[in-house]
Amino acid sequence: MINLLDYDLEEITNYVTSLNEPKFRAKQLYTDILNGKDFSDSTVLPKAFLDKVSISGAKFQAVKIYKTFKSKDKTIKFLFKLNDNNLIEGVLMQYKFGKTLCVSTQVGCKMNCAFCASGLNFVRNLSAGEILGQITAVNAYLKGTAKDRAITNIVLMGSGEPLDNFDNVAKFLKLVTSENGLNFSVRNITVSTCGLVPKIEKLADLGLNVTLAISLHAPNNKIRREIMPISKSYTIESVIEAAKYYYTLTNRRVIIEYALIKGVNDSLECARELSALLENLTCHVNLIRLNDVTERGLIGTLENKMNLFLRELLINGTSATIRRSLGDDIDGACGQLRNKELNLQTNKVQKVKTTAVISKDIQTKKTTTQNVKKQRNLDNKSKFKSNNKFSKNAKNLTNKNDKLKSKNPNVKQARNQAFNKITKTNSKQKYR
Ligand code: SAH
Repeated sequence: MINLLDYDLEEITNYVTSLNEPKFRAKQLYTDILNGKDFSDSTVLPKAFLDKVSISGAKFQAVKIYKTFKSKDKTIKFLFKLNDNNLIEGVLMQYKFGKTLCVSTQVGCKMNCAFCASGLNFVRNLSAGEILGQITAVNAYLKGTAKDRAITNIVLMGSGEPLDNFDNVAKFLKLVTSENGLNFSVRNITVSTCGLVPKIEKLADLGLNVTLAISLHAPNNKIRREIMPISKSYTIESVIEAAKYYYTLTNRRVIIEYALIKGVNDSLECARELSALLENLTCHVNLIRLNDVTERGLIGTLENKMNLFLRELLINGTSATIRRSLGDDIDGACGQLRNKELNLQTNKVQKVKTTAVISKDIQTKKTTTQNVKKQRNLDNKSKFKSNNKFSKNAKNLTNKNDKLKSKNPNVKQARNQAFNKITKTNSKQKYR
């Protein structure tokens, strides 16, 4: 089956010529599919042309909105149906600065993080067009068009691990940022990963410059291994090194996602350890309260403790905010809705347990990018290494200074004053 949304304009043109149709039809067809139109509601294309497309077995749209759930805070959760009847989820969040759509990249997920509902029932990767289709469908639902989009930002934070579906995600990023396509700016796109080190490097090498978010959720290997199986393949230190590499090549501040879990990763010691770990990385920490996963005994940290954690990070010089949680009343966390629907459909009440099936290529710790590097990347890498040496020295110096400083009560007082100033600004700020 051909999913036309998998194609860029050039590929659509080749397809149109293969039907013995004139080239100008390609642009019309592409506009239609990007506007979320289907065979039945195309207003521009003649019936004879549409019949040919239909006979060729090609589909205009890769996903259809199957159900919607609206939250009190205007968040809308979408359950999409794919052409093979698989279900995936997306969430639309409305902020002052615009509308952000969170999209899925796989049906289910293999990563099996202890706190995440998407780690259940991995079925398959999504194609580039199936990721794009979530955007065209919701954009049309909001009465937007390809030229006048209703969606301003995209986050790849729905079900699935984007970097475990690298080639399709990379093609999607090219399609969605293309001038002939929906023309999103890379600045408005965030790719979130649980930390597949070689793939983070590969993404940096691609030079697409999207924002990278890393789901860290722990300040050290011991805690991370308890909640994220992927950390058995890649140490937390190697994830931070990959993040530094990403920053060096793209100049984009990295986002660190940290879900606070009661009694697991939310002590002040954890906050201090996190600050030390991130000291030489240009990053911002998004703290979020865990959506409770009661069947695994994981509960979100209470608000006052979250504030203390935030305060400790800020005092230790780490940029951080608490992210407002949206859509709590409609099962906003990834995978929750799809699981509910599958349980309803199969009448299963018990959750299915799966073990992590991490594909071979991501188990190998060797980077895949060592051989083919562009000169720019090589230059940047050596610059990165020498900077890194320098920053290690700088870190030692800062530590020594800090130890001296912390003995001085005036310094502590000054830090507290600085903290109060920051938290005042923070509480005024709208969290992303
Ligand atoms: N696989 C990618 C993207 C999908 S998950 C990743 O790991 O980043 C999107 C984000 O939601 C991740 O930061 C993930 O750790 C977080 N998440 C998953 N379950 C959650 C829960 N129960 N509460 C809070 N955040 C959760």
